Amino acid sequence: MEERRGQRIIMLALPFTGHLNPMLDLARILHHRGFSITILHSSFRFPDPSRHPHFTFRIMHHNNEGKEDKDPLSQSKVAAMDLFALVRVIKQSYAEPFRQALAAEVSRRETVCCLVTDALWGTYTEVAEEELGVRRLMLRAISAVSFRAFAAFPLLRAKGYLPIQDSTLDDPVIELPPLKVKDLPRIEAKDPEELYSIMSDMMEGIKSSSGVIWNAFEELERPQLMDLNRTFQVPFFSIGPLHKHCEDLPSMKKNNEITDWLDKQDPKSVVYASFGSVVAIEAKVFLEIAWGLRNSKQPFLWVVRPGLVRGSGWIEALPSGFMEDIGHQGKIVKWSNQLEVLAHPAVGAFWTHCGWNSAMESICEGVPMICTPCQTDQLVNARYIVDVWRVGIMLEKRKMDQSEIEQVLRSAIIYKGAEMSETCLAWKEKADNCLRKGGSSSNSLDKLVTHVLSFVS
Ligand code: UDP
Repeated sequence: MEERRGQRIIMLALPFTGHLNPMLDLARILHHRGFSITILHSSFRFPDPSRHPHFTFRIMHHNNEGKEDKDPLSQSKVAAMDLFALVRVIKQSYAEPFRQALAAEVSRRETVCCLVTDALWGTYTEVAEEELGVRRLMLRAISAVSFRAFAAFPLLRAKGYLPIQDSTLDDPVIELPPLKVKDLPRIEAKDPEELYSIMSDMMEGIKSSSGVIWNAFEELERPQLMDLNRTFQVPFFSIGPLHKHCEDLPSMKKNNEITDWLDKQDPKSVVYASFGSVVAIEAKVFLEIAWGLRNSKQPFLWVVRPGLVRGSGWIEALPSGFMEDIGHQGKIVKWSNQLEVLAHPAVGAFWTHCGWNSAMESICEGVPMICTPCQTDQLVNARYIVDVWRVGIMLEKRKMDQSEIEQVLRSAIIYKGAEMSETCLAWKEKADNCLRKGGSSSNSLDKLVTHVLSFVS
């Protein structure tokens, strides 16, 4: 570990697992390179600082906190919001607390090198430069391939692709091959404009920043990264896979119950099913998944997060006797240590919603995917996973019934498993190599460190 303590990087997180995890990975990497780290985080979903003893956490409170009728982030209001409405409310509620927390942190004695912010904060973070002279880097923890689709929103609107009229269309998007109309990012929202306006603000925030840090590696997404770099004209640092830099550092607790169960299964036999930290599904879809898993006759480990099934606490929608019926074939849990699961030799396929962290984690462990994207970037990721990187099979949510599920799961493990595994292992090797000394991500990280130090030299 290099020693450069006293030179501090402040990081502004966004309170969603899929955003916070890569931010904390980046914090670990930069700490390892000698920087002191402060994490600014909303009181909303404030993480447990004791799990990250090397960082200073500063909590940001907003004005109407705890006042039930006025608090825009009260439990009842959040429950009624869709994802991007929630992002908007978080940004609005914490804009001023962020300004104050940043000023307070900068006024402490050490040198502050820069602010690293989740890119979704967009132009809200420009005050760092305007008022305090602190340079700003954006962490964009989604794929470059999906970012390219977001960046093309104005063009896609001008050409009439957006707003999407029919999200089932197989027609190609000629301007963005290999995407089809049905792959374009969309959300289930009362107001689809929320997505467009948050993305537009993000693009502006990136253009005025001092650079973008990607959870990407060049070997996987070089053409898209180059294309974006030409458009945005700010320095890019592709230093992913972020979670792989930190394997020697303490991370999540081991889950022995899951590992013990996986230890009893045959190599590459288990379907690991998990749809991330945000996606919610209808009870009807949940039941199709349950029967599909059971009828596949493959062993399965299924993460049913409380909140996954709309209108249900956990697995109450399952028919009585289902758990007895599956016996030792399957295990249902509320949460897993996903990195540990994907690295286990018993796992043969990952049935995923194709969130970017999950996709990267799967690629890095050489595990083929069954792709059921639900919204936003997941749809683009899935198309690339299946058609370009060739490490997955599509299982579209709208077409999904139990017999289709059964057939695709069996195909992923038994018939196409070996072929996809081979391609997956080739990508895994590339991901490993890019982090070695002289590899693309390792070089990019060196450049990032030099860039950050140039702000204060
Ligand atoms: N995750 C986990 N255990 C689970 C489910 C998810 O540790 O049971 C982690 C997963 O490893 C990934 C993150 O949660 O780092 C989910 O991020 P992703 O981008 O895949 O999806 P999102 O939750 O943002 O939709």
